[in-house]
Amino acid sequence: MQLTKEEFKKRLERKLDNYFEEDVKSASNSDLYAAVSAIVRDGYTPQWRRIRIAETNQKQKQVYYFSIEFLPGTLLKSNLLNLGWLKTVREALADLHLDLDKIAAAEPDMALGNGGLGRLAAAFMDSLASTGYTGNGNGIRYKYGLFKQKFVNGYQKELPNDWLKKEDHWEVRRESKSVLVRFGGKVNMVDDNGWMTPQYEGERVVRAVPYDVAVVGYKDGLTNTLRLWDAEVPPEEELNYPTITDRRRVEDLTSILYPDDSNYEGRLLRLKQEYFFVSAGLQSILNYYTKDLDNKDLTKLPNYVAVHINDTHPAMAIAELMRLLVDEHRVDWDTAWNITQKVMSYTNHTIMAEAMEKWDVNMMSQLLPRIMQIITEIDRRFCVGLKGHVSDDVIERTRIIKNGQVQMAHLAIIGSHSINGVAALHTQLLETKVLKDFYNLYPDRFNNKTNGITLRRWLQIANPELSDLLDETIGKNWRNDSDEMLNFEKYYHDTKVLHKLSDIKLDNKKKLAKFIKERTGIVVDPTAIFDVQVKRLHAYKRQTLKLLHILKLYQDLKAGIDHPKRVVIFGAKAAPSYVFAKQVIKVINETANMINNDPDVNDKLKVIFLEDYDVSLAERIIPAADVSEQISTTTKEASGTSNMKLMANGALTVATMDGANIEIKDAVGEDNIFSFGLNKDQVYKYYAEHSYHPREMYENDAVMKKAVDALIDGTIPNCSAEGQALFNNFLGDNEQFLVLADFEAYLRAQAKIEQTWKQKRLWEQMSLVNIAHSERFDVDKTIERYAEDIWHLKKLEVEKADR
Ligand SMILES: *Cc1c(COP(=O)(O)O)cnc(C)c1O
Repeated sequence: MQLTKEEFKKRLERKLDNYFEEDVKSASNSDLYAAVSAIVRDGYTPQWRRIRIAETNQKQKQVYYFSIEFLPGTLLKSNLLNLGWLKTVREALADLHLDLDKIAAAEPDMALGNGGLGRLAAAFMDSLASTGYTGNGNGIRYKYGLFKQKFVNGYQKELPNDWLKKEDHWEVRRESKSVLVRFGGKVNMVDDNGWMTPQYEGERVVRAVPYDVAVVGYKDGLTNTLRLWDAEVPPEEELNYPTITDRRRVEDLTSILYPDDSNYEGRLLRLKQEYFFVSAGLQSILNYYTKDLDNKDLTKLPNYVAVHINDTHPAMAIAELMRLLVDEHRVDWDTAWNITQKVMSYTNHTIMAEAMEKWDVNMMSQLLPRIMQIITEIDRRFCVGLKGHVSDDVIERTRIIKNGQVQMAHLAIIGSHSINGVAALHTQLLETKVLKDFYNLYPDRFNNKTNGITLRRWLQIANPELSDLLDETIGKNWRNDSDEMLNFEKYYHDTKVLHKLSDIKLDNKKKLAKFIKERTGIVVDPTAIFDVQVKRLHAYKRQTLKLLHILKLYQDLKAGIDHPKRVVIFGAKAAPSYVFAKQVIKVINETANMINNDPDVNDKLKVIFLEDYDVSLAERIIPAADVSEQISTTTKEASGTSNMKLMANGALTVATMDGANIEIKDAVGEDNIFSFGLNKDQVYKYYAEHSYHPREMYENDAVMKKAVDALIDGTIPNCSAEGQALFNNFLGDNEQFLVLADFEAYLRAQAKIEQTWKQKRLWEQMSLVNIAHSERFDVDKTIERYAEDIWHLKKLEVEKADR
């Protein structure tokens, strides 16, 4: 039974009355949010239970996606959409003079991730449920999500993100599924009836308690589970935690999400977090397998279970599964290793050395003595197995333990049957550069899986007007089958559709302009080019290159050289310890302040840096973008996904030939993207020959010199130290991100953007082509490839849901 407006109104009244003794007129948005989300929960709970029973009965293989980050954003509208209720509920609320968007804004973002990696994990959850595969997320229930960002005098300040303050409406605590995780102490191997068994002494025992979040699939999809673990003192161990400090140490385990993106810090607490959720997750899988599925034969585990390691953080899953199989279930080593390799698969997300995890052997031995023994044995057997077959150099380069450190990526590769990169170029670089030795050892294990995005969220939820235009032109079925979006290209010459497209964009830009006014007090012209760079702040992503372009535009305007009106919009958080990134924020903010208040510039150029970029803010900005800035140093951005979200919303991309930008170009054709800059061979040549001399470029290019000098000549007020830091960075021979090398090409690409902007019809046509071809990055397609090539899953058969 589909929910009707009248039925929804009845349920809403009842919930408000039960929960708050309020009615529709008196309830606050936060009360209304609680009531609507309760109705949604009632809507999916029976199905959630039914699916779990079907899983247990059908015993089909399931995937468990292990990720230290999940970044779902808010869930209300997404759950409504997937239940098929979004329109009904929106209209029913409107009948009551209520606005769903305002009510939904009361939900705090579930920001248990830093950026792209966590967002991908959340998209995969949604997609597994929507495509009908049984997929479970396994992660950490951080008490504090990614920090809230504020700007004070142009500087980034970080505040705690206490997202659980108002209680989360989606999670369900499942105490009965708790497991124990051990840290520290000593381990002695003793002979127990012929089996060498570990005996632990003086270890600390922590209880892992799961909080399950339902993942509601689209329309007739499944309702799957995202399981997030919290750390508690085990009731039976209370005497071992006598003081508040002792207890707090346990709770701290899951308190904070490390706020570093593309950078790794060898902190003990992080190592604890990694082992904690990996051990809890694997124990719960084996409990399910041996108890619920009543399966005693662990050699059959790979027929029922796939575990995916999302980047190196959960790589300890390989050693932990070995420990559980060998120590707890008494499976012999070779059999256990065979099982482990068949169960495990691994995605690498970066080629940047600073992001590759390496743990100190001493630290690991103290915190996880048995795991360290097992890793040592895996490493020993790996070396012995290769001895004589490959050169000793290769063994030395590929082994897990060297220089007193455990190379987590090596453990992940050696213990998995599949290793994938996240875009074609990235996978190619893994095979030929970064992981070349491993590729030579195990060529069959390597494969590419280009990332994808949830079009449901980025089109249907974030841009309902564009979604309606697609319905009106190509019919509604694109919502189920994204291939059909290609039909939108047939409207390339349709003046009416092109006009509609531009009206929708203008409308979205007006909404964003209003939001910008509310947040910053700055008035922007919605008819200007909305030029958007939204992503983490990192040197390799090169917000700095955009900054230099802004300075050049400013200098032109001051000199009377005209440009089309432009509003540059940034959203970006810097890791709190990342000094350079924070300096960039300060300089951009001061530059914005200078430009936005200069009467000579007026509204020809505005620079808006919105605070606290997260999924909800992305949903506001992306539908309003004309230009998508994807300007990382070629070879550094593994894939990128904001490039895909912006394209789907009709923004035109200005792009280096990096990550998935290359595939976007393949999809839309050269004429429908503004590509520029060094190619990968040129980048590697600079590195190999140490031939990058930016000072020469700067001395020989008057335009570049003038823009760069603005950083230090007093042009930009209040940031002389930070300006100097950027200046020194740009001109150093060891500047790895080659900002100045791409400057001139970037200006040319921007000039072409201005030319194209003046040809309104052409712009709309290019926009239309980009929307049509975004189907290529539908995450459901990505998931089908993982399910088929890596996890070997079949879809679960369930009766159509009765919602
Ligand atoms: C998509 C997304 C990202 C990833 O952006 P990239 O440009 O691919 O780095 C980061 N943060 C949020 C909030 C996102 O929605």
